[in-house]
Amino acid sequence: MRYCKKCVLPDSRPNLTVNDDGICTACMSSNEKPKVDWVNREAMFQDLVDEVKEQKRNYDCVIPVSGGKDSTWQVVKALEYGLKPICVTWRTPARNGLGQKNLDNLISLGVDHLDFSVNPKLERKFTLKAFERFGSPVIPMHMAIHALPMQLAIEKNIPLILWGENSAVEYGGDDEKLKGMEITRSWLMQYGVTHGTTAQDWVGNDISMSELAPYHWPEEAELRAKNVRAVFLGQYFSWDPKLTAKFVSEHGFQAASDAVVGIFDFADVDDAFLMSVHHWLKWYKFGFTRTWDNLSLEIRAGRMTRTEAIEHLKALGDETPHKEIEMFCEYTCITRNRFFEIAEKFRNLNIWEKRKGTWQIPNFLFGDKVWIDEN
Ligand SMILES: [Zn+2]
Repeated sequence: MRYCKKCVLPDSRPNLTVNDDGICTACMSSNEKPKVDWVNREAMFQDLVDEVKEQKRNYDCVIPVSGGKDSTWQVVKALEYGLKPICVTWRTPARNGLGQKNLDNLISLGVDHLDFSVNPKLERKFTLKAFERFGSPVIPMHMAIHALPMQLAIEKNIPLILWGENSAVEYGGDDEKLKGMEITRSWLMQYGVTHGTTAQDWVGNDISMSELAPYHWPEEAELRAKNVRAVFLGQYFSWDPKLTAKFVSEHGFQAASDAVVGIFDFADVDDAFLMSVHHWLKWYKFGFTRTWDNLSLEIRAGRMTRTEAIEHLKALGDETPHKEIEMFCEYTCITRNRFFEIAEKFRNLNIWEKRKGTWQIPNFLFGDKVWIDEN
């Protein structure tokens, strides 16, 4: 495992490579950001808006929203540009009070909204299956988040879908083709957090294709036939998590009292357990957590030094989200032992080594990290 010399990310992170000079693809991307002509990008967005508005449809765009800071930002921007959006939410089974409050706030900005709940019996089954098969319980979440807006755009003849940031740009993609303005099927396969699967891959004796309808991604040809374009707003307006959070706080968005996952109190505030479990599993799979992603963003933004980030990680220590794991077990009807048994299957043995009964990561960012197994 090699760490980037500029930030703290290891090359075990999916879609991230570290070059011969020791710099990761996310840091390379961020070097390109100041070179982007944002005035020109804004003009491109204005052209897109004009083009869409000319079509005089009932709705100009679909905005996928969770109620989080990015979705609030997307809505404010769309309204500023005079677009008429319809917002759609995949209702997380882990929705909390603050998530609902922020969603209500976003709707009150002046938009129509659909709160879509998937059959909870099916979703619970699918979530557990995804955790067992790939160690990734958020596959259903991501599949639905991407599918529902596309289905809605096709069904209601809406020409545009407005996404937030392009994670291939912000978190270190090594494929230049996926760093563009539009979200494509190849982007979804690589960055859609579905382990390259689509709904069809989850059909089995216990789950039928018709039950999986809310997770079905329309084909690109189908979207093209309906002239639906899906773009990343973060490619037209410079996206920075802290600045975005500050911007939306002026539009009623409320951060949590403490960071839920990682270091930002404005991230993942709408979810009581799924995202915490998802981000923490990266520790077994890749040897880092969400905190590392967040700290790396701060280093790139020049708000923190690499030394400070390392000190932060040292002081932090074990990040196991015990309460959230308990909630996840309750939701999927499994025991805590079963949870760790499954998680253990996904411990990456290219990274981890068992020494004297404890798990360690050799050549860790700051000396050998000792991991005492919970089981
Ligand atoms: Zn880096």
